[in-house]
Amino acid sequence: MKKIKNYDEIIVKENSLVILDIDNTLIKFNSMGKTWWKDRIEHYKQHTDAETANKLVYDDWEVTLNIEIPEPLDCDKYQDLLERIKMTNSKLMLLTARDINLKDITINQLNDCGIQIKDVHHSYPKGKKVKELYEQYECDKIIFVDDHLDNVEDVELEMKEYNIECYLLDHENL
Ligand SMILES: [Mg+2]
Repeated sequence: MKKIKNYDEIIVKENSLVILDIDNTLIKFNSMGKTWWKDRIEHYKQHTDAETANKLVYDDWEVTLNIEIPEPLDCDKYQDLLERIKMTNSKLMLLTARDINLKDITINQLNDCGIQIKDVHHSYPKGKKVKELYEQYECDKIIFVDDHLDNVEDVELEMKEYNIECYLLDHENL
């Protein structure tokens, strides 16, 4: 796993499948900053088990997500990344832990942030889904980018036999 601060640190090789997370990777909600998720988990864990805490935080997050307007994290460096993906005959798709019932709002929010992409997949955990996508699309290498350590670790574990590069993004504009 490589820790990075922005998309310009992502190395795209020929014929790669580039899989990016959405929240705090491409777009952000100002009321839910970098440590929001972790802080909320800690709060709930005082009263309940880890799994329930995770579920409760997800529910809180979904409420805010439905009312707040997101902003893109870095339009210029995102465009540069798109250019590198194109130049290397690579393919881009997004993989989010957002529930599938947020499919339409997710596409709309991405569009509003200037991110026009239809290839959006919903799954949590992410490891098995990355394997499924890899088996579906012919590529020489997978590049996975996410801001949550547990997602990166899950993907690394599931894909350890494969040619994959995982990036843990702690975006400089968050
Ligand atoms: Mg995220």
